[in-house]
Amino acid sequence: MPKTDLKALSQEEINSYTKDAGLPAFRSRQFIHWIYECYAQSIEEITEFSKKLREELSERAYISNLILLNRQTSKDGTQKFLFGLDDSETIESVLILDEDRLTLCISSQVGCAMGCRFCLTGRFGVKRNLRPHEIIDQVISVNRLILPKRITNIVFMGMGEPLANFDNVVEAIVRITGIMKMSPRKITLSTCGIPPKIIELGKKGLKVNLAISLNATTDAVRSVIMPINKTYPISALLEACRKYPLPVNRRITFEYVLLKGTNDSPEDAHRLIRLLQGIPCKINLIPFNPYSGSEYERPDEKTVMQFQDIVLKADMTVLVRRSKGQDILAACGQLKTGYHSYVSV
Ligand code: SAH
Ligand code: SF4
Repeated sequence: MPKTDLKALSQEEINSYTKDAGLPAFRSRQFIHWIYECYAQSIEEITEFSKKLREELSERAYISNLILLNRQTSKDGTQKFLFGLDDSETIESVLILDEDRLTLCISSQVGCAMGCRFCLTGRFGVKRNLRPHEIIDQVISVNRLILPKRITNIVFMGMGEPLANFDNVVEAIVRITGIMKMSPRKITLSTCGIPPKIIELGKKGLKVNLAISLNATTDAVRSVIMPINKTYPISALLEACRKYPLPVNRRITFEYVLLKGTNDSPEDAHRLIRLLQGIPCKINLIPFNPYSGSEYERPDEKTVMQFQDIVLKADMTVLVRRSKGQDILAACGQLKTGYHSYVSV
């Protein structure tokens, strides 16, 4: 029989595993404590268990781990982690330091199938979905690496489209908020906009923050830069947003990557105001982060400020997000390595 990976189990599965193994119920609490709070990477590390128990368990079970392949630190303190998976695929996670916040930007897929034209991740297609524990292990592994500090916020803005890996992402969120006890207020799911999935997410009642990569104000432009728009145009996307059951005092974030000469005109800014009318929201303007071979350019500072000014005058909350970690290709849309296997199999 193959060994059971304890890190891959849900709370209920850990309970039944403990029971089936003939262990007392408090052992499942200890498993949880050691895996999720002490970041144990092997049963051997669970020193609360006797040596004999650890040996017995090790014959039937193990704790899987992401393999840290590379860790880079940017001039601004942003760190990028390259992790290997058990089938030799790779993913990246990015740790962003912001005053007292430690935000981990995590991946939900190896690559991405959505093919947005400005996004490096989207150029390589999708290799596979991440399983719930592979999503969560990014948090556990980084927590272990930054001890005694701890991640305070999580954003699903790394590689992949989280709503295209719906069940696994939902299960990961259930475990992060349940087993790991992180508040859903500290978790943000960013999507390119798949209306039926946004509605389904709302029905799950997870209470996580929602971010929408809008990136254009007309269907003509959005369909060119984000192919998903051909299936779900802006009106369908915004209708799903209006229906999203926002917890009190919460707002949807709209991300808007500014691409020189494509979506950065004053007319765009005015259309953006009209489109978002009536939706409790804030807008994050992200000046395009270039990479070698990108066909788009970042608008100049004046254009960015002018765009922000127009939206501000309409009394909307709008921030310019200065992407961090650009020197190590850790900024939005610059994660790419997932497509390249690190071991040839
Ligand atoms: N797939 C999800 C989450 C990952 S992308 C989504 O699309 O929302 C995270 C954010 O990075 C998105 O808002 C996307 O529009 C933005 N982005 C992608 N490429 C970028 C680039 N080169 N420069 C700036 N932002 C980029
Ligand atoms: Fe995928 Fe998001 Fe990049 Fe689009 S912007 S290709 S959805 S990761």
